[in-house]
Amino acid sequence: MSKKDADNSLDSIVALCKRRGFVFPSSEIYDGFTAVYDFGPYGVELANNIKKEWWRAMTQLRDDIVGLDAAIFMSPKVWQASGHVKGFSDPLTECRQCHSRLRLDTLLEEAGILADEKMSEEEINNIFENNKSKIKCPNCGSSDFTPGKNFNLLVQSNLGNFTGDWSKEPIYLRGETCQGIYVNYKNVLNSTRVKIPFGIAQIGKAFRNEITTRQFIFRTREFEQMEMQYFVKPGDDMKYFEQWRQTRWQFYLDLGIKEKNLQWHKHENLVFYAQEAYDIEYKFPFGFKELEGVHARGDYDLSVHSQSSGIDLDYLDPISNEKYIPHIIETSAGVGRTFLAILTESYREERVGEELRTVLALPSKLAPIKIAIFPLLKNKPELVVRAREIFDFLKLNWRCEFDDNGNIGKRYRRQDEIGTPYCVTVDFDTLEKGEVTVRERDSMQQTKIKVENIKKYFQDKF
Ligand code: ATP
Repeated sequence: MSKKDADNSLDSIVALCKRRGFVFPSSEIYDGFTAVYDFGPYGVELANNIKKEWWRAMTQLRDDIVGLDAAIFMSPKVWQASGHVKGFSDPLTECRQCHSRLRLDTLLEEAGILADEKMSEEEINNIFENNKSKIKCPNCGSSDFTPGKNFNLLVQSNLGNFTGDWSKEPIYLRGETCQGIYVNYKNVLNSTRVKIPFGIAQIGKAFRNEITTRQFIFRTREFEQMEMQYFVKPGDDMKYFEQWRQTRWQFYLDLGIKEKNLQWHKHENLVFYAQEAYDIEYKFPFGFKELEGVHARGDYDLSVHSQSSGIDLDYLDPISNEKYIPHIIETSAGVGRTFLAILTESYREERVGEELRTVLALPSKLAPIKIAIFPLLKNKPELVVRAREIFDFLKLNWRCEFDDNGNIGKRYRRQDEIGTPYCVTVDFDTLEKGEVTVRERDSMQQTKIKVENIKKYFQDKF
């Protein structure tokens, strides 16, 4: 077997996602719906496994973090207080020729004018105005743009607006999940045994009116976040910030991501309240881009909500009796981006004899299907019945798939493409000697196993 150069280009990954039921464009039969995607049968399994790993690492394995599932809709006062209504925006321009709406910072970056630095919108606008002639619209090549303006990313709804009266304050779909954590901080404190330092973890959907939405599921308008806010005593910020940087980095290594494909990006232009901000970036097919943010946010979030709501959000230290607004270390990751990183990391094309084999070398804990079970021949009822029995037995412990369609080689290839680590084939040896053939995805090696040992065999493997 000779290995072809790894072909984990975005196009190959997108094609695999569609072909094998990982990701579908939203509303495809109606020509799709920009920047929204659906997870298919294997995609939902992979996404769930990613969330399960995150939840396990961030709650189950810790005694200092509790979970939360706040609602998507929140009082509009939350978004006023947090600063999102005023300041959650990206700089936008429109191409006068083809009317594409484009993000200024992306346009500048692609023209090589602005490095990856996170500048203020005003600075970006100024640079754009001074360099307009050098910038080309990626869709039509024109350099004729409208002046830059800030575009708010919050998505509005008409929830509860039964009269069509738009004079009321709009209700938003949440732009980030962490606001649900801040406004529940006191509830959690009063209803559980947590003591500072402690964290609240949440996984949930967020919505943003993103302007530039290329790059598949990397940037979508509806997406899922895995966020954790860690509440610490003022002054302890940097100690925990460094711990969280290490912990979150290790999380990706534990998911099988190679360290050479990760890098830190330090924010140079911090928002006024932030003490330190780093992003973990992954080497996507289109370059190193943000996967997760680890930010030291000071007391900003709880302070603004305390001021705005009039509710005291101080923490009373039970031992020292000190009273203070806790500072926050935030870790904020995206399910979709982790999903894309995992696919990029696992996608391989290999030459096997005359054939090209596509494999998703997923770690077992993330694989959508752990074991596929095949009767060798579909038209031999005794094989099918025995294979079904084995499927019914294994499914109690692992996510399995039964497949009796097509020749065995094709069935193996299909499972390779969805990343199934093991296939079990039931043949005449199963009936005569009580043995099945277990085929391993990466090595393609086949081993005969006694049926009575099969559970133990997989317990050892997983
Ligand atoms: P970017 O700079 O790429 O727009 P951001 O800095 O706005 O990202 P955060 O607000 O810090 O992102 O959100 C935390 C995480 O949520 C990101 O690291 C990313 O994984 C995920 N995320 C944010 N926006 C999107 C989106 N539009 N689509 C998919 N995932 C997203």
